[in-house]
Amino acid sequence: MQDAENYFESYRKAGEILKIIKDESRKLVVSGYKLVDLVEFIENKVIEMGGFPAFPCNISINSVAAHYTPNLDTDLVLKSGDYVKVDIGCHIEGCIADTAYTVKVDESDDDLIKATQEALKNAIATVEPGVKTNYIGKIIEETIKDFNFNPIKDLCGHGLRPYVLHSGITIPNYNSNLGTKLKEGDTMAIEPFASTKAGKLKSSEEVYIFKYLQDRPIRDPSSKKLLNVIKQNYRTLPFAERWLEKNYTGLKINFSLRNLIRANAIYPYNVLLDSEGGLVSQAEHSLIVTSSGCEVYT
Ligand code: MN
Ligand code: MN
Repeated sequence: MQDAENYFESYRKAGEILKIIKDESRKLVVSGYKLVDLVEFIENKVIEMGGFPAFPCNISINSVAAHYTPNLDTDLVLKSGDYVKVDIGCHIEGCIADTAYTVKVDESDDDLIKATQEALKNAIATVEPGVKTNYIGKIIEETIKDFNFNPIKDLCGHGLRPYVLHSGITIPNYNSNLGTKLKEGDTMAIEPFASTKAGKLKSSEEVYIFKYLQDRPIRDPSSKKLLNVIKQNYRTLPFAERWLEKNYTGLKINFSLRNLIRANAIYPYNVLLDSEGGLVSQAEHSLIVTSSGCEVYT
C-alpha cells in the first residue's frame, strides 16, 4: 500500500503540471500560431516543471482525429475556425497524466466541443468501484448523440500503469456490451471523441509518432544506430520523429525510421482521420478510482 500511495503521489504531481500547462497553452491556440511552436512550448514546459513528456504532444486539426505531431521543419499554422485538439502527456517516474482539450480557433466553444466536454463530465460522474466500462461507454455515446453527433468508436479510454500508456482496461466511447468492472485504485484516462459524420476512422499514410517494439537484425548502419538510440531513450513510451531530429542530427532519421518499420523493430502510429471528413472534437482526463467515486488528477 505504501508503494501504491507513492505511485498516486507521482500521478498527482504529473497531473498538477498538466493543469498549469493546459491553461497556459490554451492562450497560444490562436490563428497564425505555428504548430511546431505550440508542441515545443508544451513539451519544454513539461520538462521545465520537472516532468517528462509521456508521449509527443498531439495536435490534431479538424478531421484529423489523433496521432499527428509536427516535425521540426513543419510550417503549418493555426487558422481561424480550426477545431484544434491538444493532447498532452506527462509522467513522473513513469506515472502518467494524459489529458486533452479542443479549441475552435478565435471562437468560443460550440456544440461539437461541448458534446465531448459533457460526455466526459457525465462519464466521470458514473465512475466508482463495480461500474462496468461499457456502461461508461453507454453514457458517453448517449451524451454525444444528444448533441446530434456520433461518438468515434475506434478510439477509447485506457488504463494507465507506470511506463505503460495503454494498459489493462479499455473504456469504449459507446456501449460495447462487454465490459470489465472498475476496482478501487484503478488508474485510467477517459477520452470521448465526437464526429459530425458517422465517426468511422481511416489510417493515413503519414506517420510522425512511433514506439519501440523489439531488436531486429538491421543491415543499414544509420538505421541500426537509430534503433539503439530509440531503445535506450524510448523503451516503452511513444516518441516523435521531431525528438530524434532535434537530438541526433547526424543520422538519416526519416529514411532510418522507414527501415525500422519495415523490419518490425518499431511500431508506427499512423495519423488517424475521420473517414468521411467529419470534424472531430475530443476531451480527456486521467483519474484514480477511489472507494466511493474517483479522483480526477488532470
Ligand atoms: Mn491523450
Ligand atoms: Mn489517452
